[in-house]
Amino acid sequence: MIYSIIFVTIKRCTRVKRFIKRVKYMKDDTQYQKDLKFIEKIDSMTSKNIEFFAYFIGLASCFAVHILYFTMFAVNGIREMAYFNIFSILFYAVCILLIRKVKVKITIVYAAIAEIIIHASLATICVGWGPDFGMFLLMIIPITFLMPNKQKNIPFIFMFSSLLLYGVLRYIYNDPNSSVYDLEHTKIGLIFYVINIFIGTFVLVYATTIYTIMDRYTECMLRVQNEQLRIMALVDPLTRLSNRRAMGENLKLVSSGSQQSGKKYVIGLGDIDNFKKVNDTYGHDYGDTVLSEVALILTEKIPENGYAARWGGEEFLFVIPESEVMDGFECAESIISSVRSHRFVKGKTEFFVTMTFGVCEGCPDDDVDKIISCADKRLYKGKNNGKNHTEYTD
Ligand code: GH3
Ligand code: MG
Ligand code: MG
Repeated sequence: MIYSIIFVTIKRCTRVKRFIKRVKYMKDDTQYQKDLKFIEKIDSMTSKNIEFFAYFIGLASCFAVHILYFTMFAVNGIREMAYFNIFSILFYAVCILLIRKVKVKITIVYAAIAEIIIHASLATICVGWGPDFGMFLLMIIPITFLMPNKQKNIPFIFMFSSLLLYGVLRYIYNDPNSSVYDLEHTKIGLIFYVINIFIGTFVLVYATTIYTIMDRYTECMLRVQNEQLRIMALVDPLTRLSNRRAMGENLKLVSSGSQQSGKKYVIGLGDIDNFKKVNDTYGHDYGDTVLSEVALILTEKIPENGYAARWGGEEFLFVIPESEVMDGFECAESIISSVRSHRFVKGKTEFFVTMTFGVCEGCPDDDVDKIISCADKRLYKGKNNGKNHTEYTD
């Protein structure tokens, strides 16, 4: 079950990767670069097909081990167990065939655990406690708890049944005379014991290794999903620019940076002219296209150390740290000039749009909100003074 969750998540992560790449205009991208590397690492982990590794290898090992047991029991004339192992071999062969098809793969694992418990109990009844098949009754307990599953009561059911069987069988079959075949002090009894110790160790090491890998994998996935949510909360889905909330954080950073360095910063607030008319003439959907294309122009024109955001409907805000009003003016004018010359094509018609900007400079001790409202006033002034230009004075 958890495997399928993991694989769905990884598919989503590939989408996040593409998404993160597009958010290149979020200037502080050190964290994004780290995340990209991180996701790529996870992608490469998937190619190893951990699901196949975990289930197939586990079941195939059980299959092989029961062929070994069958041979040992058959050769030594322990018929009951030889017959049971024919059943076990067929059982694991069916499990291997079904593993790709069954959706809730944990059911197959539980069936295998039940088989191990039955096999260990019957073998103890047949050959006594000496070869230590009873060990599997204890060893299987932590494994049931390490398995990823939703029904948390199932491991407890396995644990109590297994412990009960262990207690009863140990009490009865500690006496070699109680078992069907007495292997006490025989060479074959010792060989069974050594084989069982070896298999038990392998199973425990295997299960704990798989668990550790999966645990780390889930941890990675959670971090990636957190990153996905963080980005979704900061990015405007239409223009892929920072949204107002993210810009709020950037403005705080710029303001505190300005207080530390003692240098000024500049804020520009721009608005597309007569945008209502664009919507009315070319449709709301094409209006969205215009917004995205204007956002791309903004992204290209903002200096490396600056930030741009979609501030409202068709309003954009930029902030440039360590700069003065004329830097903001130049930036706004270059955006306006690019937007003005950008040809928008809808079907056979083509048209142009213009933008107006209000720009205001902030001093280290200024309240950022005051500078934004100053830029807003100047934008309003620009709208009243014929639009399609930048205002940088009151
Ligand atoms: P002005 O030059 O004075 O700015 O004129 P305007 O027509 O741009 O005026 P106003 O700001 O009142 O109109 C903005 C329009 O932008 C109104 C609204 O329908 C549209 N708008 C806001 N958000 C979106 C959006 O996400 N997509 C689209 N297509 N239109 C939007
Ligand atoms: Mg407008
Ligand atoms: Mg507006």
